[in-house]
Amino acid sequence: MELPSKLLENAVNEFAQLPGIGKRTALRLVLHLLRQPESQTQTLSASLTKMREEIQYCTSCHNIADAPICQICANTSRDASTICVVEDVRDVMAIENTGTFKGVYHVLGGKINPIEGVGPSQLNIGTLVEKVKLGAISEVIFALSSTMEGDTTNFYIFKQIKDFGIKTSTIARGIAIGDELEYADEVTLGRSLLHRIPFESSMKQM
Ligand SMILES: [Zn+2]
Repeated sequence: MELPSKLLENAVNEFAQLPGIGKRTALRLVLHLLRQPESQTQTLSASLTKMREEIQYCTSCHNIADAPICQICANTSRDASTICVVEDVRDVMAIENTGTFKGVYHVLGGKINPIEGVGPSQLNIGTLVEKVKLGAISEVIFALSSTMEGDTTNFYIFKQIKDFGIKTSTIARGIAIGDELEYADEVTLGRSLLHRIPFESSMKQM
């Protein structure tokens, strides 16, 4: 695509790096911005810069936050003794949308995936095990997607926490194998959280 301006081309190339945005869409977005008041572009770029500079990750659960502790962990009406373990922040949002879960979360930041070189030490597993060791946890719910990597990760964590006398469960698999949590509909996801099953009986099904 031949563009009449280097400045335009630079902006298009930046947009085109975003997932799901091809060169054509990028051009449409950039031309749209050019037709709008300059202040709109300034607000857009300022909000992106501010987000990138100031965003924090909750020191307790690793969720995205505006403060050292996220809104969910800071909410005293939530049951801090029930932890739902998820892969990333999108899963937190998906489960929060169901409105059925009143505990707190632990965001791993991925799944164990030897092929892609992701080992346990690159994930937020240590801080979860520490929380369990400290003794204030009554239940850990595994809510990773049911892929091989998800199952491997669940089992790795389970082995480390099983001797601390807490309940471990997994979300009921109304969600088809390989479905990512964020794509599951809210009713199905909410139901699978309510009808969670003991982790050990889920292993027998494997
Ligand atoms: Zn938190």
